[in-house]
Amino acid sequence: MTKIGFIGLGIMGSPMAANLLRAGHDVTGYDVVPASVDRLLQAGGKPAPSIAEAVAGAEVIITMLPDSPQVTEVVLGPGGVLESAVEGQLLIDMSSIAPETSIAVAAAASARGVRALDAPVSGGEAGAIEASLSIMVGGSPEVFEAARPVLELLGKTVVHVGPAGSGQTVKAANQLMVAGIIALVSEAIVLLEASGVDSTKGLEVLAGGLAGNTVLNRKASSMLAREFAPGFRIDLHHKDMGIALTSARAAGVSLPVTGLVAQLVASARAQGYGGQDHSALLQVIESLSKP
Ligand code: NAD
Repeated sequence: MTKIGFIGLGIMGSPMAANLLRAGHDVTGYDVVPASVDRLLQAGGKPAPSIAEAVAGAEVIITMLPDSPQVTEVVLGPGGVLESAVEGQLLIDMSSIAPETSIAVAAAASARGVRALDAPVSGGEAGAIEASLSIMVGGSPEVFEAARPVLELLGKTVVHVGPAGSGQTVKAANQLMVAGIIALVSEAIVLLEASGVDSTKGLEVLAGGLAGNTVLNRKASSMLAREFAPGFRIDLHHKDMGIALTSARAAGVSLPVTGLVAQLVASARAQGYGGQDHSALLQVIESLSKP
């Protein structure tokens, strides 16, 4: 049994912590929203009233927070993880954040003798619930091997992709692809519906061919029904498109399709869909063809 401190018990963190509990680990969790901590309690975990109490005595500390500012605050800030962490603890940040923030976290952790990894995930809420996430890990190979047993309880595809920050770069590549695929599935729906074709049957046959993809498999029926409860919020995908474009600039490469899709995601936000699932991009594509 490993003693785990879990910080950030939202849409993803909550089922991930529940999977660690189910596997027999001792999980103490902290979140700024008390209702999220209550969910952990119901799943058999222990609530922590502060970050320091989630960190105390933990062998592994996992963070699953929205964005770079929250990770910076929770890990590096006053009263944060590193203030109370002790040598030898293992910090796994599974949030999707800027690679340079992960690099800064790894350096600050190392200065305190804390081993750190960036380990963002793909697979959505369903993947978190089913423990079938794809986990892309940046950090040293030795630390990755130490973390592997815990990560394998959360995901099916767990891959070490390089040094600190690399996990985030791979996640940015994932996110630009997912947004692009959602935009194209949306365009297919708009075309099928406007042409009077049976769109349910149309998407069914598309899912079996070369255009088949996970967005189509998981989200086609909710998109056709215009149901956009999150899932993965447009606001978070907007953040990820920014990370992808900033990373592209830093790497000196041009990602023209990502640039266009990022503008569509920004438009979804501007139109008030920020709190909806990222499949709500369909409403923006639709609005382009409405009088
Ligand atoms: P969420 O907003 O549901 O959860 C984040 C949690 O962090 C919330 O419970 C919030 O209260 C908590 N939090 C925020 N600031 C805090 C602080 N200072 N101290 C303690 N807790 C704090 O978001 P989510 O959908 O679970 O996503 C978490 C991360 O995982 C994001 O980086 C997101 O991009 C990534 N992600 C999400 C999905 C998805 O499908 N939802 C999939 C893959 C990756």
